[in-house]
Order: sequence, then C-alpha cells, then structure tokens
Amino acid sequence: MAVTQDAAAIAGDLAQLRHAIHAEPEIGLHLPLTQQKILAALDGLPLEVTLGTALSSVTAVLRGGAVKGDSDGGTGRGAGGGPVVLLRADMDALPVTERTGLGYASTIDGTMHACGHDLHSAMLAGAARLLSARQADLPGSVVFMFQPGEEGHGGARFMIEEGVLEAAGERPAAAYALHVASAELPAGVFSSREGTMMAAAEALNVTVHGRGGHGSEPHHAADPIPVACEIVTALQVLVTRTFDIADPVVITVGSFHAGTTNNVIPDEARLQLTIRSFSPAARTRVRDAVTRLVHNTASAHGLTATAEFENSYPVTVNDDQEARFAAEVVADVLGEDRYRPQANPMAGAEDFSFVLEEVPGAFVMLGACPPTVDPATAPFNHSALAVFDDVVLADGAALFTELAVRRLNRPSEG
Ligand SMILES: [Zn+2]
Ligand SMILES: [Zn+2]
Repeated sequence: MAVTQDAAAIAGDLAQLRHAIHAEPEIGLHLPLTQQKILAALDGLPLEVTLGTALSSVTAVLRGGAVKGDSDGGTGRGAGGGPVVLLRADMDALPVTERTGLGYASTIDGTMHACGHDLHSAMLAGAARLLSARQADLPGSVVFMFQPGEEGHGGARFMIEEGVLEAAGERPAAAYALHVASAELPAGVFSSREGTMMAAAEALNVTVHGRGGHGSEPHHAADPIPVACEIVTALQVLVTRTFDIADPVVITVGSFHAGTTNNVIPDEARLQLTIRSFSPAARTRVRDAVTRLVHNTASAHGLTATAEFENSYPVTVNDDQEARFAAEVVADVLGEDRYRPQANPMAGAEDFSFVLEEVPGAFVMLGACPPTVDPATAPFNHSALAVFDDVVLADGAALFTELAVRRLNRPSEG
C-alpha cells in the first residue's frame, strides 16, 4: 500500500500522541514526560533504543533486512550494514503561556509547545512505525533522533557528543529534519532551499571595565559609559562598512545596563547582543571583527573590555543535492503543488545546523496553519496564539518515511 495511505491509517494515533505531548510540555534538555510518551509510542517496534545521559534524548536504530553486498545481506531482519539515513525531531517547548483555547492546550502554566515540536515528535514516531513495517525491504539503517533542548539549549550538539551520528555504526549518508510553521505557508505545503536555510545566531555578552568615581571629577575615574556607547554605534558602522550586502550580517544590542544614579561613575557597563549571519565565512568574520572592535575601543580610552559568546548556533546550510532530492520526494509522493521553493533564508536559527555541519542533508519547513485560517495573518511560531493543525501529521510522517526509503535506495554516485 502507498505510504500516504499507511500514514493516513495511523493519523488518529499520531494526533493522540501529539495532543498528549502538547498537554504536558517541558522545557530544555530534561524532558522525562515527553521521553516516556515517545518510548511508549515506539514500544514493540524492532528498534535498538538508547537514551541520552546529559539530556533526555531518544535514539532509535532500525536495521534494514535487505542489505546487499556483504555476508549479512539477505538474512532478513536486523541484518545490519548498508547506508544510514538520520531523521530528526526536536521535543522541547517554550516558556510561553498558551492562549489558544484548544481542547488539548497546555496544562502546565507558563509552558507551551509554541514552536510545534510536539508535531515533529509525533511525525517521527509515526515514521518509525511506517519504516518498521518496511524493515525487510530496507537496504540500510535508519537513525531516529528525538532531541530535547532545541530552543537555545543546543541539544543536537549534546546528542552528537553522545554518539548519535555513530548510532548505527556507519555515519549517516544523509540527514533530514522537518519543521512546522503556524503561519506564512498554507497547511500541507513543504518548503526548503539549496544552501543557507537559516541564520547563525550568537549571543554575546560585553562588559566594559572602568573605574568608578565621583560624577563631578571624571578625570579621577575611568568612565565605562561613553566607551560602551561608542561600541554600540561603532558596531553599526562595522556592519555597513565591512560586510557584503549580499551576504548580510545583523547586530542588535538588545540590552545596555550601567550605573545607579546621576552623580556616580560606575565601575562597569554591560551590553547584550545578538548577531545573525548567513554564511560560515561571514560568521567567522563577524565574530572576530566584533571581538576586536570591543577590545580596541575600550583600549583606545585606556579601559578594558571582555566579550563572551554563549549559546551560539551555526548557519543551517542545506546540501544542494539533498535539498533538491527532498523537493522531488515531496512532489512525487504528495504532488507538485505541495512544494514551494523558499526564496530567502530565514533569520531564525536551528541547532539541526550542528548535524548539517557533519552530514549532508536538508531542513524542510511544513505549513501547519489550520486550513480555515489565512496563513498571511495567522500568529507565527512562538506566539501564545500559534495553532498547528493535526491535518499535517500523516503527510509529515509519510515524507520522513519516503525520504529514508528513497535515500537508502538511491545509487551512490561517484
Ligand atoms: Zn522555536
Ligand atoms: Zn522550533
């Protein structure tokens, strides 16, 4: 039977799993309730399951039974060998108080699946079921990567450190992730692009160290405030004079704190920045340039400064061939009208970028706006009003499944 029909047959189960995860959202790297629900959904499938230690991840390996060209080949289930494909779903929620009024809305105050990761987990669990039913025909292995801590916690990086890329033995030949959107794309429309898909994001904390004193006698102090102000404006000059407008960089100083009252020069001033870039080259360059500017501006005035990066995500770069392949699979399995090329990279960031730094693959968006709502005006991901419709669950699971089946069967090119 066609994968879309098989997926449609389990759509009710996927909605139930999704609602259960949605009602009990968890934030960060430790999501024990979500992990339990995923394990229950995978129970009884022919998978090798391992759990994370630094985080509550679930890694499941399905070994195909149709591996060619080695002594294990053709021996049936669990033979092992052959190429490997990795499929990834993130599992975590956000610190948002849900205001959708849905029947299965969050029961945990201040926590909401506002980025649709509940759908990703359900779709990947569905794909595990659909692929398990096809195990005998798979000429390789599939790694299912259920990942906590996407929203700023770098969960993918921890899973790579704990060996998710070696889970099946051989490294994956390709990796794919799906991400739902509650607006912009109509329900059921997939979208991706070759090359840069999403921005790199850096959080940078800057401290300008001066020497406090009396506001009437600045020559006896070392005032950090004018130096910090100079850094803020010089950063904008840096962007316009140093970077190619066709390979843009965004720097925003979102927080500036110094001092306590009008006549006291403080010891220090603190700035918090976000930096976005869209190519690995621009990313390296902007990190270096900002660090140099901060240190040298302080030094020009006889002060010192520190610049500390934290929670950085690299640029999410799709492999050109894998992005084209994903587009072809969408069009072939679901129809030409279900794929829309994405014109520009998104300025958001994704920690699937850590996987794509190691393995060629593609990150694909999926419109999940309720069919009765206008995607142009619907609340977007991270909104307390963001609604993602169950209608996309079966097709998401079907696409994951077909990406794995077809990629494992794709002849390796020279
Ligand atoms: Zn998000
Ligand atoms: Zn997300």
